[in-house]
Amino acid sequence: MRKPFIAGNWKMNLSLNDAVTFVKELNNNLPDPKKTQVAIAASALFLESMIQNKGEEPLIIAAENCYFEDEGAFTGEISPKALSEMGVTHVIIGHSERRKYFNETDDIINKKIHAVLRNHMIPILCCDETMGRRESDSKISWVVSQVTAGLKGVSSDDAKNIIVAYEPSWAIGTGQTASTDEAEEGCYLIRQTMADLYSDDIANEIRVLYGGSVTDENAEDILSRKDIDGVLAGGSSLNVESFINLANLSTK
Ligand code: PEP
Repeated sequence: MRKPFIAGNWKMNLSLNDAVTFVKELNNNLPDPKKTQVAIAASALFLESMIQNKGEEPLIIAAENCYFEDEGAFTGEISPKALSEMGVTHVIIGHSERRKYFNETDDIINKKIHAVLRNHMIPILCCDETMGRRESDSKISWVVSQVTAGLKGVSSDDAKNIIVAYEPSWAIGTGQTASTDEAEEGCYLIRQTMADLYSDDIANEIRVLYGGSVTDENAEDILSRKDIDGVLAGGSSLNVESFINLANLSTK
């Protein structure tokens, strides 16, 4: 039985004060962590304060990105080793905004996945799909190639803990959610790819999320689908009430 995973991605939003207040407001409002895991990915600048202020709250603090080397002369980069030392447990890798605005290739993403695993954290690998690709590839094969390339050289032991998010970029921040069938189709395809790359057992074990204009109002149907184990929410994770509603939906 896969445990639902509800994640917020704040991107480059909120202030440090907002982030700390938000985390405190989640207190006593999150679902039982034995039933659902809840995470927030935030700017690296906020993570330490969020960890310090979350207290006993079962909130996973995630980074939105990191570099693929642990340390060295890489001015301005975020060390995965430092994230891990700080108490960060999950890192989003390969978000479509990183692929688009920061030219992250599958090769770079693969190196980052290895860096996250090497530092004992869990990668949340995002797979993108553009509207153009969707129209030209009936089987959304771009997603398959991104999962395959992103996980190159990753062992079965590590693969089973990885979280993969199906995030069509035409649905991100646009208010245009994929239909529930489309969301499930993408998540199913990712699970099939994991079966091909690893085994049926691993494919059944890993959690696959859908992301793209998810809100507490449209997530219930998405979360009810067999191959969708949770959501990655950007815009709607910035409002504490919406995020608490979203986090509690999957336990209903
Ligand atoms: C995201 O940034 O991963 C995302 C899904 O954003 P939004 O929910 O705003 O579409």
